[in-house]
Amino acid sequence: MGFLSNKIERNEIKAGDHIYTYRVVFAYSHHGIYVGGKKVVHFTSDPEKRSSASDDIIMSKTTSTTCKADCGFRRRGSGVVISCLNCFLQNGDLYRFEYGVSKAEFFAKVRGGSCTTATSDDEADTVIHRAMYLLHNGFGNYDVFRNNCEDFALYCKTGLLIVEKEGGSGSGRSGQISSVLGVPVAAILSSPLKFVIPTPVVVTVTAGMYCITRYATDIGVRDDVVKVNVEDLQQK
Ligand SMILES: [Zn+2]
Repeated sequence: MGFLSNKIERNEIKAGDHIYTYRVVFAYSHHGIYVGGKKVVHFTSDPEKRSSASDDIIMSKTTSTTCKADCGFRRRGSGVVISCLNCFLQNGDLYRFEYGVSKAEFFAKVRGGSCTTATSDDEADTVIHRAMYLLHNGFGNYDVFRNNCEDFALYCKTGLLIVEKEGGSGSGRSGQISSVLGVPVAAILSSPLKFVIPTPVVVTVTAGMYCITRYATDIGVRDDVVKVNVEDLQQK
């Protein structure tokens, strides 16, 4: 694994890993949790609730209809899906998201969305439990800007959710944990700056600015992040 690349080979992957790949169209990175057995749990827009054509284009190839592996299960109305590794990668390269990186390393990464200064939970079982629980119980509504596949994987790895501050654009409730636990997940997840510059082409050009912008939203340094048990997440 090179200093500036998180690219790994398939035989290096471990259950509980947060992995991602780059979708060719739009150069969009897609994230998921590897749960073992060549299966990946990841969060996509619910096909029944897709609101825009671009959503459709980005997400339409989530699973191949020709895949013969036990692949593509999702609960009706839920955006959380389990796919085989092949369908998840779609011939793209495999990358492992890094946790607990130093601030220096974080700034050295040219692309956002490949590492965080937050630490993940050590136990792979804990991570896999969250992913499988959300596969069966859902993870709110997919929102490219506020609740997306990267947020899903970050949550599974850390148990951390970003709570919108009082007076923010979200639920309008106070930022206290007790009041947060009753609202839809989508309302309390917030990463508004993450997709301001969506393509790596632009990111490379404006790397310095983007890294600093992103750092401001990194869950490792935010003060509005809380640890939430997966069983406490409630759906609409
Ligand atoms: Zn498949």
